[in-house]
Amino acid sequence: MKKLIKGLREFKSSYFCTHQELFEQLSHGQKPRVLFITCSDSRVDPNLITQAQLGELFVIRNAGNIIPPYGATNGGEGATIEYAVQALDIQQIIICGHSHCGAIKGLMKIEKLREEMPLVHDWLKYAEATRRLVKEHYSHYNSDDLLEIAIAENVLTQIENLRTYPVIHSKLYQGRLKIYAWIYNIETADILAYDVERHAYVSPQSQLPESELDDSLLSPFPSCSNGNYSTPPHLEVVEQPDDIPIVIDQRFPMSPLSPQQMERIYRGSRSVN
Ligand SMILES: [Zn+2]
Repeated sequence: MKKLIKGLREFKSSYFCTHQELFEQLSHGQKPRVLFITCSDSRVDPNLITQAQLGELFVIRNAGNIIPPYGATNGGEGATIEYAVQALDIQQIIICGHSHCGAIKGLMKIEKLREEMPLVHDWLKYAEATRRLVKEHYSHYNSDDLLEIAIAENVLTQIENLRTYPVIHSKLYQGRLKIYAWIYNIETADILAYDVERHAYVSPQSQLPESELDDSLLSPFPSCSNGNYSTPPHLEVVEQPDDIPIVIDQRFPMSPLSPQQMERIYRGSRSVN
């Protein structure tokens, strides 16, 4: 607690004092452009990883970045979604899962939670579609790979849940809302974004319209200057005809996939039984 109180003082004397105009502006109202839904995990910080300013992200956080389907609960998630989209007119939603997610680890061993953490057990039923899909389609993977696949699949399950909200359904119908699926990797600070057409996770800049691309976005994500970081072997960098480098993560195929799609996603990486 002492550390936090020192932090409060430091925040006021440094950040607040150099951004007083922003704070004054924000006191009159907020106009965030993005609803960012992610896990409560202490290693994931939406503002830090996106370098967003105060007032730019409207955030929902809970264990496992889960959105209960419409009508399933009367919880805060639905109210926050409704407020974000209707009152704040937010037109972009990101659901961001992350590597090493404890909630998804729990989901993969759900029976163990029943007695020890009954509330977590009950909460994870809103991710049951993820558990079932992973169990029935990816059982030939080892437990580490299964966890990463479940994390990736769960973001898509939660997007399906999000679509059950009338306010979301209506805005999507009007073409006034975009939903993005992201995975944040804790050890590399990389973000991968799900691409519906490729059925794969790709670099997020490849999903921007051409008009929004500039030089700073056309290069791959930077690596650390100490040279310790290199692209993990499962990430395949593919040069596109328009010179936008796209990183395809070979571990996260989304089912159902045709054999051709499977082969494309897994080329050169590992065999699929
Ligand atoms: Zn998590």
